[in-house]
Amino acid sequence: MPELPEVETVRRGLVKVLVGRELVGVDIRDGRLTAPADPTAVAHELLGAVVTGVGRRGKYLAVGLDDGRTLVCHLRMTGWFHHVTELSERPHLRAVFHLDDGTWLLYSDQRRFGTMRLIAAGGLEDYWRGRVGPEPLDGVWTAPQLRAALRGRTAPVKALLLDQRIVAGVGNIYADEALWEARVHPLTPGGRLGAVRAARVHDAVIAVLERGIDAQGASIDTYRSVDGTPGSMQVRFNVFDRAGEPCPRCGSVIVKTRVAQRGTYLCPRCTPRP
Ligand SMILES: [Zn+2]
Repeated sequence: MPELPEVETVRRGLVKVLVGRELVGVDIRDGRLTAPADPTAVAHELLGAVVTGVGRRGKYLAVGLDDGRTLVCHLRMTGWFHHVTELSERPHLRAVFHLDDGTWLLYSDQRRFGTMRLIAAGGLEDYWRGRVGPEPLDGVWTAPQLRAALRGRTAPVKALLLDQRIVAGVGNIYADEALWEARVHPLTPGGRLGAVRAARVHDAVIAVLERGIDAQGASIDTYRSVDGTPGSMQVRFNVFDRAGEPCPRCGSVIVKTRVAQRGTYLCPRCTPRP
């Protein structure tokens, strides 16, 4: 599932092909994408719009239009934007955008959990409220802020990092990588993290997300960038998807367990169970 680094890589790809382009043809083929809005109505609304920018909030993409509206997209499990110069049918194609330079932006989604919502001008902040919390890479998010968000919480710190309202954009991969880096067991109750460990987790979240962006994301499943190239973060994982392999820090065998209903990778020596 794409997390912040993958979505940021997609955003950068979309900026290159979409900004300044007019949508001269829009075909949304799957009602689940725009539900509860009617896909034909949304396609009609988008027709003729010019893209002014592509932003990101957590794992959401925000395609800005010239009349102030925003198309907010979430890739969920298997959503994928692919820019092509010739239109061709392909499996799981859910939406087709024809651009005024003659190229095409295709949206495929095998599992069909992805969403597109057209937000009215001025409505974006309301849309984010309650959905996404602080943006980890904006330079404003601080360790004390994270510690305050975890204070009193008995849920495992991993579950709390996956809560998009505590910090936006972290998913299963980068949560495991960050907690390993911070030497904190994923089951540690959030409220038990003092200032020192909360700061380590905060710094590690930022570090692993930046590393992920540098690697253009992790392609362990269907994720590809907009031009079709895979990311390379998967070869730089320290613990994720590496059960049975040696921990890069201490050499102990990495184990896979379950935390917050998610497959979780950790080093039992670097991060002893609380
Ligand atoms: Zn270790």
